[in-house]
Amino acid sequence: MAVPKRKTSKWRRNQRRAQSFFSRLKSPSLSECPECGERILPHRVCPYCGSYKGREILPETK
Ligand SMILES: [Zn+2]
Repeated sequence: MAVPKRKTSKWRRNQRRAQSFFSRLKSPSLSECPECGERILPHRVCPYCGSYKGREILPETK
């Protein structure tokens, strides 16, 4: 069975964990709103025009 030759240092272990954390923080998956074209989070109501799945849900505040 393959066994790691050296113990992973605290620094390297933390770096590995921090990488996945920061990649999620910096570049969350974004999709474009089909109604207004703004970059929005997927599976959420668009905060710009209030639409989701082709229907307007939130009332227009502006
Ligand atoms: Zn929109």
